[in-house]
Amino acid sequence: MHCPFCRHPDSRVVDSRTSEDGLVIRRRRQCPECGQRFSTLETSSLMVVKRSGVTEAFSREKIVNGVRKACQGRPVSDDDLALLAQRVEETLRASGSAELDSHDVGLAILGPLKDLDEVAFLRFASVYQGFDSLDDFEAAINLLRIEHGQ
Ligand SMILES: [Zn+2]
Repeated sequence: MHCPFCRHPDSRVVDSRTSEDGLVIRRRRQCPECGQRFSTLETSSLMVVKRSGVTEAFSREKIVNGVRKACQGRPVSDDDLALLAQRVEETLRASGSAELDSHDVGLAILGPLKDLDEVAFLRFASVYQGFDSLDDFEAAINLLRIEHGQ
């Protein structure tokens, strides 16, 4: 990143802030040569490869929209959903890979959703994992029971 004032080829990051949707990182930089400060906007490098092969930028909003339906009628607030999307993003970023499969994103949703609301989790899992019989539901419920120690 060249300094826009003196064209010095190097700069120091003094502050970083990620936008609400996680798509843009705003960095405050300072030039070590002339001391001027300037801001840069950098887009998130987290990309998701959809089943169709199309690549799109990861967005928390899409996570929230994807999960909201499963949470209908459940005691889940918008704040809960925002926090869930944040946890999903943190998990995905921690994987260290810049390009993710939509399958990985779905898997990253299951854990925090289970903690949030088990009914919503079962709904989401039934669509996401393609449950097609009562046996599938029963298996998933049994897993939850084992986790509860019942
Ligand atoms: Zn400079």
